[in-house]
Amino acid sequence: MLKVAVNVPLSREFDYLPPADGPVPAPGCRVLVQFGPRRQVGVVLALADTSDLARDKLRHCLAVLDETPLLGAADLQLVRFTSSYYHHPIGEVVAAALPALLRQGKSLHPIVEMIAVTEHGTSADIEALAKRAPKQAEVLETLCDAGGNGLEAEHLTELLPNWRRAAKALFEKGLIQRFEARAGEFDETLAPAAEPGPELNADQQAALATLRSDKDVGAFLIEGVTGSGKTEVYLQRMQDIIDEGRQVLVLVPEIGLTPQLVSRLRKRLGIEPALLHSGLTDNERLAAWRAARSGAARLVVGTRSAIFTPLQNPGLIVVDEEHDHSFKQQEGLRYSARDLAIVRGRNLGIPVILGTATPTLEMLRHCRDGAYELVRLPKRAGGARPPTMRLVDTVRSPATDGISEPLAAAIDSHLGTGGQALIFLNRRGFAPTLICSSCGHIAGCERCDSRLTVHARSRQLRCHHCGATRPLASTCSECGETVKPLGEGTERLEEALRERFPGKTVTRIDSDSTQRKGAMVAALDLAKEGQADILVGTQMLSKGHHFPKLTLVGIVNADQGLFGTDFRSGERMAQSIVQVAGRAGREHRAGEVLIQTAFPEHVFWSTLISGGYEQVAEEALAEREATHWPPFTRLALVRSAAHQRADAIGFLEFAQQALLAHCSETLRVLGPVDAPMARKAGRHRAQLLLQSSDRPALHMALRELRVTLEQSPAARKVRWSIDVDPVSYTHLTLPTTGSLCGCGGGGGGGG
Ligand code: ADP
Ligand code: ZN
Repeated sequence: MLKVAVNVPLSREFDYLPPADGPVPAPGCRVLVQFGPRRQVGVVLALADTSDLARDKLRHCLAVLDETPLLGAADLQLVRFTSSYYHHPIGEVVAAALPALLRQGKSLHPIVEMIAVTEHGTSADIEALAKRAPKQAEVLETLCDAGGNGLEAEHLTELLPNWRRAAKALFEKGLIQRFEARAGEFDETLAPAAEPGPELNADQQAALATLRSDKDVGAFLIEGVTGSGKTEVYLQRMQDIIDEGRQVLVLVPEIGLTPQLVSRLRKRLGIEPALLHSGLTDNERLAAWRAARSGAARLVVGTRSAIFTPLQNPGLIVVDEEHDHSFKQQEGLRYSARDLAIVRGRNLGIPVILGTATPTLEMLRHCRDGAYELVRLPKRAGGARPPTMRLVDTVRSPATDGISEPLAAAIDSHLGTGGQALIFLNRRGFAPTLICSSCGHIAGCERCDSRLTVHARSRQLRCHHCGATRPLASTCSECGETVKPLGEGTERLEEALRERFPGKTVTRIDSDSTQRKGAMVAALDLAKEGQADILVGTQMLSKGHHFPKLTLVGIVNADQGLFGTDFRSGERMAQSIVQVAGRAGREHRAGEVLIQTAFPEHVFWSTLISGGYEQVAEEALAEREATHWPPFTRLALVRSAAHQRADAIGFLEFAQQALLAHCSETLRVLGPVDAPMARKAGRHRAQLLLQSSDRPALHMALRELRVTLEQSPAARKVRWSIDVDPVSYTHLTLPTTGSLCGCGGGGGGGG
């Protein structure tokens, strides 16, 4: 009989008999099964001789959907590990591992609708048509450009969303035609010929030699200051592996934010990467997945879910910007792609390379313990000098609309000598708060415990947590007096900089300004060409970009992390500052970084400025060890959300009771407490924290808890989840029970 994973929120496998006739499907094949009243696509995990169900209770599968397994033994092993480590139903893990079309039961090689210009269409007078029917002309022109093989209809929809309406007349006139074809195959040869890179400097050569040494370690962590040439080093290692005829999987935080990396890989290796990210159509995604699985793509680059992509002949996994939070999924299956990369590498017996300028304390600790090998690149490559950092005391030099006089003067001087400035503020919108100047009322979200952000350009108030919007009024909803925006976001900064520096180009890059497809790449390209004098933006601007002319970085408000309540706030803040600072002075001219703070005396700053990230990390590790926070203990959160607070808390009290049997010296259960922003989108959220220095004990407790919670009637009133190794919202507003020594405040930044 077959052990089948079915996409339902239950932590078990389901037994089915093979179809009444035909061959028995192998593990990794999809099958169609009757599940309760519904038909579901499942994946065979294993074949077995016995079942808990009596034989006459077992049903046959309705059909086998694949002749050969979609997932190989190693892929299924990763799926099983993920399910057991994250305590998540295996059917949902399998679903996360498959592209949408396969999840829905479509063929691995689907037949798609194609649209192409006809012979007759190629000789049509497009200009004349454009005068009468511009939409039709646009469709026809696009298809003429695509040539005789045509375009997938899905792709055409991407280019021209409403093409179908205009196409009607074109079909009738016989200018274009429709046909069906097998979905296009990935073509690795589309890339230009490989271009050689720079000759490696001594540090890089030493790093490469370590990567090439046949060390039996879990992973290599390349800690290289920004611009130290990390990418060059792993490019060489990738080349080795590709030359051996094996595949390389590269995980990146967000493809949209790293177009440079993708084009660099393409150019240097001379092969087209198969890309896997959320910006693809379902067919494109499937095509890339297929190419990875068949081995047609030797280079596979993707965001976090790409970690599950089957590879024909894997040789190396690279995780670029290891510290980035987007590697951890924050909903549903809450996995860390970085951590799974290490597990997968170990299962396959292949090396894993993690690269970053600002390693997480978790990875640094593994290096200290000797589990991973640390490779350091302490200097910038190619002669560029490290940027200098300077604090601006905003108590003495107050900022107007976010900009203090010293920062304004620095901008002036850098622009005056042909440089470019980047002003960083991790807060989009015009202002984070709208306050009444008479009664002091603050505009808040009705469904969340949060303030509404003022968006001046779109004349809206928006909740950045649930997406709710309201028109921006000029008077207070409570007392009718005038309201004013308080504080600043990127929109306000942009406006203020335009006023202060007339005649200079100011470009804002954040998720509001780059919503249109391609807008971000276009804006970044302009910035890279040096066409923007001043860049204003959020975290988006800090990620891996190389702006040749950029010499000044201004950090507008650096204080958020100094007194953060999450034990990671210090680490986070140091990472974010060092990353954005790393954009400055990457070529010939030295860079300068100005940090505005109201607390220049805070010890965090002296540590960062004199010792750099390395020193911050060193001190934070010592502090975490002393206070028993990760990476010296392990955490898991049980979260709940319900319309009524009592239900959310009550459910976790039930969970806490269930865990009592497991409490010991090594396992603590803390809470339940309200989640940091307790009300979100109309639901009340609460959490229960499990902390342990003994990982097996923690996982044993979680395993039993999961089963208990799944069967509990209390679970029906709430949404709940288990988050293993949570990376956010781990701060505690604890009741007096079971308090942790010195936890919570101060941040990890040596403060
Ligand atoms: P990182 O990944 O550490 O930020 P990169 O590999 O992107 O660093 O290198 C930063 C810049 O330095 C790039 O422009 C790269 O071409 C250049 N570079 C890297 N290694 C060398 C080298 N050995 N000689 C000259 N330039 C180099
Ligand atoms: Zn809201």
